[in-house]
Amino acid sequence: MGRDIEEKNYSLDTKCQILDKDLEDRWGAISFPIYQSATFAHRGLGESTGFDYTRMQNPTRQQLESVVAGLENGIDALAYSSGMAAIANVMELFFPGDHIIIDEDLYGGSIRLFCEISKKNGLEITVADLCRGSVTDYIKDNTKAVYFETPTNPMMNVTDIEKLSEVAHSKGLLVIVDNTFLSPYFQNPLDLGADIVIHSGTKFLGGHHDTIGGFVVVRDKKIDERLRLIYKTVGAGLSPFDSWLILRGIRTLSVRLERAQENAIRLAEYLKGKEHVTKVIYPGLPDHPGYEIMKKQARGFGAMLTFEVDSAEVAKQILDNVELIYFAESLGGTETLITYPITQTHAEVPKSLLDKNGITDRVLRLSVGIEGIEDLKAEFDRVFEIAAR
Ligand code: PLP
Repeated sequence: MGRDIEEKNYSLDTKCQILDKDLEDRWGAISFPIYQSATFAHRGLGESTGFDYTRMQNPTRQQLESVVAGLENGIDALAYSSGMAAIANVMELFFPGDHIIIDEDLYGGSIRLFCEISKKNGLEITVADLCRGSVTDYIKDNTKAVYFETPTNPMMNVTDIEKLSEVAHSKGLLVIVDNTFLSPYFQNPLDLGADIVIHSGTKFLGGHHDTIGGFVVVRDKKIDERLRLIYKTVGAGLSPFDSWLILRGIRTLSVRLERAQENAIRLAEYLKGKEHVTKVIYPGLPDHPGYEIMKKQARGFGAMLTFEVDSAEVAKQILDNVELIYFAESLGGTETLITYPITQTHAEVPKSLLDKNGITDRVLRLSVGIEGIEDLKAEFDRVFEIAAR
């Protein structure tokens, strides 16, 4: 009854459906069971079932990990209790005195982790403009890794993964890419030279704003072994139920993302023509500086867009008056969310960095959902009308 799927070269859409391998072990259940067990009995001394204790391994989580590793073309994926737990565990690969280069535009929580926790742990952190500058300018004798998102949160800067990886590898650095904004459906950084891929599974992979999770995907056995040791030691693994929710979310990854992207493209074009909108930053618009790189390294442009309005008051009016769209943090679900980075996702980022990146009180971020596009446009027509009063 088991299906021989590993050797088959399935498309990404199909890989999202193939969540089962050993049907006979679970009475033919199509939905992978939730193994809600903290511990697992041994058949005898030295006879583990392969599962001993859920902090280390769990069948539901393992199933999810193998699906995510498959989607990112990695040798292994590790599922964590949040995206931040995933990033924090990756930072445990490094030692006091190591130097890490991070991009200047990142999710605010990641900047906080690097600047408050990693520095306290003895790492040297340099904040760099990786999308416009050259990584070579920042490399020192003790540099061990370079960390970035592409496109970035929230300013949608695009970095050429292949080019940067070539330079970084020539100096012996690890390349770590947070691929949350595009998901493996649109971009596979490991195929472009990255060594480690990170996801907030809370976002497009989960897809329904109903769980928090994170992933690290790797292509090197040694790094994997070290991460597995850290993983079982610090205990930040994803729970069986949350693993199941993300497994279920992945089944619709392709249809959700295609539809959300279609809406994002149309909304980006619509917003460009709106009074009060001074800038629309979406990497699928040909005037975006990263458009050509996106076409080269990704299979789509995603469903995230950022726009700027002409005053903080207009931004406030929009946030106060949305009805169909939710004013909330996070992204990647089926509902459209509007976020105000300056008071939400990036509230704790140093002012100098916010200013440098142009994250002002006039900048709004949209995670475009799968609603009817005409309803989304009508929502904006209505809020812009209120803002104009
Ligand atoms: N990476 C990016 C790009 C994010 O936007 C976020 C959260 O918004 C994270 C990582 C952290 O993920 P989590 O909230 O699941 O811890």
